[in-house]
Amino acid sequence: MSQQLPRRLESEAVGKIPILGLGTWKAAPGEVTEAVKVAIDAGYRHFDCAYLYNNENDVGTGIQQKIKEGVVRREDLFIVSKLWCTYHKKALVKTACYKSLKALKLDYLDLYLIHWPMGFKAMEDLVIAGLVKYIGVSNFNHEQLERLLDKPDLRIKPITNQIECHPYLTQRNLIRFCQSRDVSVTAYRPLGGSCEGVDLMDDPVIKTIAQKHNKSPAQILIRFQIQRGVIVIPKSVNPKRIQENIQVFDFELAEQEVDELLCLDRDFRMARFPIAENHKDYPFNIEY
Ligand code: NDP
Repeated sequence: MSQQLPRRLESEAVGKIPILGLGTWKAAPGEVTEAVKVAIDAGYRHFDCAYLYNNENDVGTGIQQKIKEGVVRREDLFIVSKLWCTYHKKALVKTACYKSLKALKLDYLDLYLIHWPMGFKAMEDLVIAGLVKYIGVSNFNHEQLERLLDKPDLRIKPITNQIECHPYLTQRNLIRFCQSRDVSVTAYRPLGGSCEGVDLMDDPVIKTIAQKHNKSPAQILIRFQIQRGVIVIPKSVNPKRIQENIQVFDFELAEQEVDELLCLDRDFRMARFPIAENHKDYPFNIEY
């Protein structure tokens, strides 16, 4: 197994963030340590974590072991965590960040995202304190992001907006907006997650394209984002699938195939965060 970052993965990094990372949501604590180790051996360097996922301790164990084995150095890795909504108060932001750092067994994060669009200001202090290298946002609609970027007192610009994105929710307008403001986009749930009744990987258009390239539907879904210049973080705890999901740098989708995937858009959002639907900053009540 290659322990090197595939050359094309390095060259296709979008700005500061490696273009392909491992998602860790719903990765059970008992499984995720091994998944992280397999992923590092397969060449993953970007790991998407969050306080909410309740498994940062086990992710950290996997990272720590691979550093100890000398497979990677801390500076080779790009570790992301997210500030959960119960820690938005300025006084709590640093505490939350320290909790994630302690669980992950790190002394800094590469990127800290605000998980949902409610509060951002105190995040800037974490960069100034050297606890995180970059900050970013997640689930921001274009109005919320524009408001943030246009704040006269903004000290540190978010480097990415992490949003749900796949062929049933292509996010063309929001991606165009983010890229026009020099904010990268990270696609979460790129494989459609495990949403009941919807199986992106069973879509006939996606299956046909996959057969043409002798690739799996998951590989097509991942490559689709990469060719749009979008960072992508498929989750898997299955060693075979972890390896499969990174084998996406040896083929290219034709422009027409990308168009076919874009045409599957049906504005279908899986992550709706229903308990926050009545919050004033709920992000999904506008078109994009
Ligand atoms: P994904 O679209 O990554 O789908 C994950 C599911 O697909 C799992 O059931 C996984 O099972 C399966 N899978 C993975 N690879 C393959 C493959 N090659 N073939 C078939 N099935 C496969 O969904 P997620 O919701 O996990 O999104 C990815 C990541 O994005 C999350 O883990 C998290 O890090 C982040 N995220 C961020 C959010 C936010 O609000 N900012 C919200 C949601 C997610 P298995 O593990 O058994 O392989």
